[in-house]
Order: sequence, then C-alpha cells, then structure tokens
Amino acid sequence: MFAVAVGLPGVVVAQSGFAPGSICHISGPKTISYADLVDDPGGWNCSDDDMDLDAERHIIRLDLTNRPSAQANPRYFEFERNAFETLSISAIGRDGSAVSQSLAQRDLQLGISSSRSIAQLPESSTPLEAVVVTVDGSDYPYAFVEASLNDRPSVVLVAGWVHIFAAMICAILFAPIIFDLIYYRVLRQPFPLYHALFCLTAVAQSATASGLTALTGLVSLQTELMIEYLSIDFMLLTIIMFANSFVKPEYIDPKHRTILRIALALAALNVGLSTLDLLEVSNLVFEIVYLLFALIGFGSYFYVLAVAWRRGSNTAKYLVLGLAPFASFLPLQIFSLLVFGSMVLVENVVLHSSFLLIEVIATTVAVADRFMIIRRQRDQAMDEARVLEALSERDQLTGMANRRALSARFETMVADGFDTMALIDIDFFKSINDMHGHPVGDEVLRRVASVLREGENEKDIAAFRIGGEEFLLLLRGDDAASNAEERRRAITTHLLLEMEELDNPVTASMGLVDFSALANESEIDFSSLYSRADKLLYDAKCAGRDRVVMERLSLFVPEGPTAVTA
Ligand code: GH3
Ligand code: MG
Ligand code: MG
Repeated sequence: MFAVAVGLPGVVVAQSGFAPGSICHISGPKTISYADLVDDPGGWNCSDDDMDLDAERHIIRLDLTNRPSAQANPRYFEFERNAFETLSISAIGRDGSAVSQSLAQRDLQLGISSSRSIAQLPESSTPLEAVVVTVDGSDYPYAFVEASLNDRPSVVLVAGWVHIFAAMICAILFAPIIFDLIYYRVLRQPFPLYHALFCLTAVAQSATASGLTALTGLVSLQTELMIEYLSIDFMLLTIIMFANSFVKPEYIDPKHRTILRIALALAALNVGLSTLDLLEVSNLVFEIVYLLFALIGFGSYFYVLAVAWRRGSNTAKYLVLGLAPFASFLPLQIFSLLVFGSMVLVENVVLHSSFLLIEVIATTVAVADRFMIIRRQRDQAMDEARVLEALSERDQLTGMANRRALSARFETMVADGFDTMALIDIDFFKSINDMHGHPVGDEVLRRVASVLREGENEKDIAAFRIGGEEFLLLLRGDDAASNAEERRRAITTHLLLEMEELDNPVTASMGLVDFSALANESEIDFSSLYSRADKLLYDAKCAGRDRVVMERLSLFVPEGPTAVTA
C-alpha cells in the first residue's frame, strides 16, 4: 500500500457541480481519469447503478460536501468483496488537495463475513469534498457504488471473534468425519462415507462464508467464492445421497424412492450448472434452471423424509429437523431483503455457522443412533446364537448332552482327568417298542437318561446320549469302573420300580475302556476309543447281554478283555 499526494487542479468545493452527498460513477477505457472528467458532472451517472460491466475502468465519486466541516473525516471504506486488477482510492480535500493510495486485495481488511471488504481511507488534514475510487478489471463494480464510508470498521481486528467462532465450528465439524471413517471400516456400508462427505462440504461452507479462508490467504478470491457457492450445491447432493442410503427401505415406498433418485440426479446436475455459472459460461436461463433444481432438491428431500418421519422413522426425524434451519436461509434471505432492505441475516456468520452446526450434529446423532441399534441387534443375535448352541448340544427327547456335545468337550474332559469310557446299550429295546408302543419306548429312554444323569452329581461321571438307545459315560477317579457298573445296574432296578407296566426287566449291556494308563494325551483319540468300547459292547451282547466287558488299555501290551457277568 502506498499513498501519494496528487494535486488535482481546478477542484474546489465551490466549483464542483456534483450534488452534495451524491454518488456518481462513470465507466470507460483505461485512459479515462478523474482529473479529466471532474469538470463535466453531466457526463456522470448520478441517478442509478447502471454500469457498463464490460468497461475496463470504473470511477466512482462519493460526495461528502453535505458533511459539516467540523465533523471528522470518515476513516474506512466498506464494500462487497469482489475481484479486481487495481484499485485506487483518493481523498479529495475541500481545499483542492488530494491524497491517493493504490490497494491490492491483500491490503483490504476482511469485514464481518467473507463477503465484505474494508479499506482504510488515505488520511487528509482538511475536511473532505469527496472520496474517489478508480477500479480496473472489477468483476462487480456495483460494490463501490453501494459502498459505505464509516468512522469505524464493522470488525475491529483482522481476525475478529467471528473468525474464532467459525474456526471453532470448523473444528467441531471435523470430528464426525473421523467417527464416520471408523464406522465405515467396521460396517462397510456406504452411508457413513456420504455423511463424511456431507460434513466436509459443511466445513468448506463454514470456512469460506465466515471469511476464515480469506484470512489464511491460501487461495485466490475466485477459488474461495467457487468453494463457497459450490459447497452449498455439494451439500445438497451429499445430504440427499446420505438420506437415500441411510433411511431404512421400509420407510420409503418405491414411488418416494424414485422422487429421491430424481432429486439426486437434479442435485448432481445442479453442481454441474453451478460450476458452469461460476466459470461464467452460463446466462440467466442457466441460473434460473439451477436455482429451480436446488429448490426441487430441497423440496423432495423434505417431502420424502417428512413422510418417512410420519411412518415412524427416527432417522428421518433427525434429518428433517437438522436441515430445516439451514434450508430456512432461503426464505430468511427474502424476508431480510423485504424488511431490512439487505441480506443482513444471510451475512450473519454466527447464524449461518450455527445452522450448519445444528445440521451436522443432528445427522451425526442419527448415525450414532443407528450404531447403537446395530449394537443392540448384534447383542441380541449373539444371545440367540448362544441359546441355539446350547440347544444344539442337547438331545431333545431326554434333555441329555448329545454326541455333538461329547465331541466338543472330549479333549477338555480328558485334560481334566476323565480316563474311562463306558458304552451302554439297552437290551432288546426293539421288543419294548414292539410290545408297548413307541411312546413307552420313549419313556424308557427318558428314565434311563435320568438314571445315568444321577451319577453326574458327583462330577466324576458325565453322561451322553449317542443315538437311539445307546448311551456313553465318561468317568474319572479310582472307582470309575465300579461307578459305571453301578449305573448300568441301576437302570434295571429303577425301571422295575418306576415302570410296572413292563413285563420283563429292562437290562443293559456295557463295553468299558479304561485308558488311564495312556500317559500322553496325544495318544488318546476319541474315535479309536469309541470303536474299542463298541467292540467290547458287542462282545457283551454276544456273551448273553446284561453284562459289562471291560478292557484296560496300555501302551505296549494289549490285555485281553475281561468279562464281568451280572
Ligand atoms: P440289542 O439287545 O441287540 O441292542 O437289541 P435292540 O432291540 O435293543 O437293538 P436294535 O438296534 O435292533 O433296536 C433298537 C431300536 O431302538 C430300534 C429303534 O426303533 C429304536 N429306537 C431308536 N431310537 C428310538 C427313540 O428315540 N424312541 C423309541 N421309542 N425307539 C427308538
Ligand atoms: Mg439295544
Ligand atoms: Mg443299539
């Protein structure tokens, strides 16, 4: 920034033909200058803000002769932010003096939001007649016609509290993104990614609209404006993508799903048109079309989700309430224009950022809510699986542990010292069925099971139903063999007392293998022990039934079977 005193001959307040307090402007090639044109006020436009946008240079004169000379000169020049090549501001004194200064974009202070710029006026020791702005290559020269001259800037510091607030909001908006990415890793469903994208657009929107991006000076004004406008269009696109994949299908019928998909397509088109518009490829028709697309997008979003809400979707409720404040900006903007004559509310960074925050929090709560639901469902499924697993290891008829339970527990039980296997088969069971019917046969099986399970109380016997009328005992301790034999005999005595309708005593045969001599657990194999016990059982049947045939296995010298007769 530099200031030069330039004498502008012939400019004294009495000779100025400009109306006191008037704002006049003139546009033309780069050769025009204030000094050449000041004597011809009639050539200036002082009635409206019609400007030749294609002109290279615009000169704007803000008359101050209506200010009492005792009043201090204004110090600041505040206008809507716009891109320009060169900007020069001159303070013309009532004594004919003039002080000018050229300003670059970086010399301008940021106003209350990203859309305002503040320039410090060159200091003049005499009361001012006018402030003259000469701007080249401005993309929005109206900004200087609508500018205001102030004694104090609207924000005092370069980084005002608005920017600190906006920075805080941006930091908060980042948190759900991390949460979404973790959630996506666990769940592998697309909606957390859409939510993360949506939060990212909210960060971009908040950072640019608040002027935070401008403060960093990292991107050009054009890029910044592009991010600011496009982030709203992307926000619409990502929130519809999110809603479409997030709200459960049962709450959205096919017709509404189609509406949402059309809205999604329009929102995508909207992003495209908006980009073309920012690249200045578009015309008015384009702008109207893309505004219409945005309206249809927001409208469909609210319509479909409101219906889903009415059908009981909690998610849809969060999504509707979350976006409502931000979407209300459009009607608020119109209201603000009608009542205050300007977009006061829209330029309110606190309001804008808070609405964004509400939206992000509401959707994040909805995602977290889904997380809790999924966790509850998982816990429930695990409980059910545990019940099913327990059921699958129980025999339905007798409630006894079955063959599956036996294979699952065998190794652990051997490690716990169980070293004897007894296979018990009821003698002539088929004839019980034949003589008394299947239900009586079933009752016999239930009672046999209960006799065998009685032994389980001592914790040294475990009983299993292997199939049909065949049972298996695993035993440990010094008395393993005699305990097994006691159980076998108990079958007969119990059934004699409990089931008087049976004509003959129910007896059972048993094959017993004592493998306690096998020191190394790796030599103990279930299926070979089982076939050995089965072989001994067969021997017991052949020897006349109602007896036990047992064998003590040893590593090197197989002993012959020993029959114990009843
Ligand atoms: P053995 O002394 O040689 O063992 O003769 P058995 O009649 O006991 O043996 P077999 O294998 O010939 O017959 C077993 C019968 O057990 C045949 C089958 O119908 C019956 N059975 C198998 N499971 C059940 C069941 O759950 N309930 C009833 N009531 N009968 C069953
Ligand atoms: Mg049998
Ligand atoms: Mg059998």
